[in-house]
Amino acid sequence: MNNMQEYMETAEKVILKTYNRFPMVLEKGEGVCLYDMEGKRYLDFGAGIAVSALGYSNREFKEALKDQIDLLIHTSNLYYNKPAVEAAKKITEASGMEKVFFTNSGTEAIEGALKAARKYAYLKDPSKEYEFIAMDHSFHGRSQGALSVTGNAHYQEGFVPVGMRAVFAEFNNLEQVVSRITDRTCGIICEVVQGEGGIYPADPAFLTGLRKICDEKDILLIFDEVQCGMGRCGSLFAHDLYGVKPDVMALAKGLGCGVPVGAFVVGKKADGALVPGDHGTTYGGNPFAAAAVSKVFDLFESMNLVSHVKEVGDYLYDKLEELKDSFPLITDHRGMGLMQGLEFDLPVGPIVKEALSRGLLLISAGANVIRFVPPLVITEKDVDEMISILKEAIIEQSAVS
Ligand SMILES: *Cc1c(COP(=O)(O)O)cnc(C)c1O
Repeated sequence: MNNMQEYMETAEKVILKTYNRFPMVLEKGEGVCLYDMEGKRYLDFGAGIAVSALGYSNREFKEALKDQIDLLIHTSNLYYNKPAVEAAKKITEASGMEKVFFTNSGTEAIEGALKAARKYAYLKDPSKEYEFIAMDHSFHGRSQGALSVTGNAHYQEGFVPVGMRAVFAEFNNLEQVVSRITDRTCGIICEVVQGEGGIYPADPAFLTGLRKICDEKDILLIFDEVQCGMGRCGSLFAHDLYGVKPDVMALAKGLGCGVPVGAFVVGKKADGALVPGDHGTTYGGNPFAAAAVSKVFDLFESMNLVSHVKEVGDYLYDKLEELKDSFPLITDHRGMGLMQGLEFDLPVGPIVKEALSRGLLLISAGANVIRFVPPLVITEKDVDEMISILKEAIIEQSAVS
């Protein structure tokens, strides 16, 4: 195989077709740009789905990973390893929470979070079949457990009955959530900013209300910060912006900046629910993955990345507002920091495709929303370039349709 076409044709033969991929083979990254096999440059406003917060080929990050490869890649969780201890210490200090369990993905972080909540309820009363309250249009992952709390028929279709009991309520509708609580409710799970569902931030009163009702009923509150956490919204964790603490938090995506790693983090209440034998993983928190997490925290700090996100996020916000005001087919603009969305009155697929051919990677969130989740290191100049390409793509597409 030596050209792009051959790779793509072979891919369709040997890789299970669960995705309709865009027609290029990406080969390398530098800064906030990706390059395909033919050397074409793409400005990346998707960051591998909100993952590559440091952009591509960050020298210090690469060196830390290479150093860890030279030392030790894997040992299992039967033994302690230095990077995992260091990474967990940084997460607990940054979040003010108690303990960390490392996973290999966001989905697994959700699985663990759900198990912690079930076990917490079980320890109080083992006689009940517990259930979760989850939100409409939520996304928590593709395993049977995470699917159970994913409030989107599209993802569940063909896989029901899914693994765990869940009832759904409207996101940001506190009254409806409260009306769903029964003596079987063991946890309430929500994203602080819904990602896949279309970039919907929680209302402050909603999260405050969830905290209060969970305290009153002794139910665990689980925040899925897999996408909105790790600086993306302009604070290290999105819930910091609201001043509302969860009992369990799920992290992944930006946590390893491309090294596959996730975590669930428990606060005081949930600490102790899971005991030896209750949960495990072979890879989770191995020295290589944990070294990535540890370095990500160091770099976030030394680069002052969170305040950078706030600044450039505000700039992006203003530019997207201007765009919205100049195109009537843009009907809404939502989000914060570097997690923003533009809603159109038509499916955005053709615009995303047009932008791609012009060297800009964008991703959608649902049919009508373009989601902006670039590397956190982007500058105002990158925002300007993105806006100018996006404008051309919108004009081109509205001329066609
Ligand atoms: C991506 C995502 C997940 C699943 O993470 P994976 O690493 O794909 O398993 C869960 N929750 C949210 C909010 C996500 O955005």
